[in-house]
Amino acid sequence: MIFVRAGDFILSERFIRNSPNGTKFFKELIILYELKSTILKFKDTYTSACMKEMHEDLHCLEEAIQEAFGYKPDRNYHRFWEWPYCKCPVLDNMDHWGTSIHYYSGSCPVHGDKITQDNWKGHFFSAVKEYT
Ligand SMILES: [Zn+2]
Repeated sequence: MIFVRAGDFILSERFIRNSPNGTKFFKELIILYELKSTILKFKDTYTSACMKEMHEDLHCLEEAIQEAFGYKPDRNYHRFWEWPYCKCPVLDNMDHWGTSIHYYSGSCPVHGDKITQDNWKGHFFSAVKEYT
């Protein structure tokens, strides 16, 4: 199996070849992963005021990556809880990865404001249906 380095990411050539677009956008995929790597590398330069913008940039990059692979852009497959500054529950979100159910923490500086009075229900974490 051959792997390709793109920034801090290691991509499987076999995975790329087996995706719907195959290697059609191979160079674009490398560039997109390098961009994602750069954003993550400079995460400490983001102020609290622009953490949400960084997450939105990562969502946009992930959508472009999905399209380059030949998949329909779908934010339900973005692992936002692994991105910098997110303090949302990891295991709950992993359990529902690929669905429209997302778990947010009220203490997350990026997603905390998604917890509203309507969905709070007295629980520390709250599942919010989003991106549907
Ligand atoms: Zn979060």
